[in-house]
Amino acid sequence: MEKAFLIKYGEIALKGKNRRTFEEALVKQIKFALKDVGEFEVTHPQGRVFVEALGDFDMDEAMEALQHVFGIVAICPAVLTEDTGFDDLAKEIVEYVGKVYPNPSFTFKVDSRRSRKNYPLNSMELNAAIGEKLLEAYPNIKVDVHKPEVMLHVEIRERINYYCKEVFGPGGMPVGTSGRAMLLLSGGIDSPVAGYMIAKRGVTIDATYFHAPPYTSERAKQKVVDLAAQVSKYAGPIRLHIVNFTDIQLYIYEQCPHEELTIIMRRYMMKIAEHFAKENGDLGLITGESIGQVASQTMQSLECTNAVCTLPVYRPLIGMDKQEIIERSEKIGTYETSILPFEDCCTIFVAKHPVTKPRLSVIENSEKKLAEKIDELMDVAISTTETITVTP
Ligand code: ATP
Ligand code: MG
Repeated sequence: MEKAFLIKYGEIALKGKNRRTFEEALVKQIKFALKDVGEFEVTHPQGRVFVEALGDFDMDEAMEALQHVFGIVAICPAVLTEDTGFDDLAKEIVEYVGKVYPNPSFTFKVDSRRSRKNYPLNSMELNAAIGEKLLEAYPNIKVDVHKPEVMLHVEIRERINYYCKEVFGPGGMPVGTSGRAMLLLSGGIDSPVAGYMIAKRGVTIDATYFHAPPYTSERAKQKVVDLAAQVSKYAGPIRLHIVNFTDIQLYIYEQCPHEELTIIMRRYMMKIAEHFAKENGDLGLITGESIGQVASQTMQSLECTNAVCTLPVYRPLIGMDKQEIIERSEKIGTYETSILPFEDCCTIFVAKHPVTKPRLSVIENSEKKLAEKIDELMDVAISTTETITVTP
């Protein structure tokens, strides 16, 4: 029945050029989300985004796909029709309402807009005329202009569209409107959620994953690729850098106090991720850290990790509890993959009693033992990094 969608978007303090950038990014992301659902035309006439199906498609699949497009505030499945006169329109609308609500029984209001001024009825007249036809057709409906249960929208443009359902979208800003950032993506629960949250603000996501073969398996790596694919349903294609971290980890393990291992490793992860971030033109790093969640995420630890970065580090989960993060990951669909029990490079060499309040000067002092060899190892890790583009 409905072959089109009217897309409502927010963040509407948008003006001039910003607005155009926003709409273009929104259109691009909508096309990306719908590419496996069917053939659609996406247009943006003044202040509106329309999606029109050019062939058959599954409504549930299309709605699901549109739920992944940031910037969409509401999705309205709509009927698009040619203007062949008011009588035809009224007849169509009466049939439509009967299909959407078999045996209609509700209060309603008609909300018409006439964007094309040469239409013979103005919007007040349209409201009244369509309302009348509906009342004639369905004895159990009543008009309520203040709190209607059903709002029937009719919009007269070059063509005419009408709809009466509106489903919430994910909100946020279309990906591609806010620059790029580098996500440190592990196989855990938190970092995919962190990537989702920053992408929701319109940021294009790159990712870096550190693995430690043979201590971590091919399946652990595949899990991270799968998580990136799930995030890319929202974020668009993700450039994923897969860094072999084994030799760096072994060397730190050999040279540094074991209780400082995690924090020192994390500092080298940040440095390498920042290297790729700069190469990609990213404006920040993203991690899944939350204050106090584990020893390496105390305020003191975060200070030590931050100290090696020159780019800003965004930590969108910083004030969230684990339970809240889990709920979000369930909602966005990454949870089931995140809890698959594969080894992580950080847990392999982990100390029994890691420092919880590291001092930056102490950590820097320990790192002196790594001398020049660590730079060589970093160069090797960088030059052997595998980069792939991940899509859903
Ligand atoms: P997550 O659930 O995201 O793995 P976590 O609770 O396990 O987080 P940590 O292991 O302390 O916490 O990691 C903190 C952050 O450091 C992660 O959210 C992620 O951004 C980054 N990180 C940790 N391990 C890796 C890794 N192997 N590759 C890339 N980034 C990592
Ligand atoms: Mg982890």
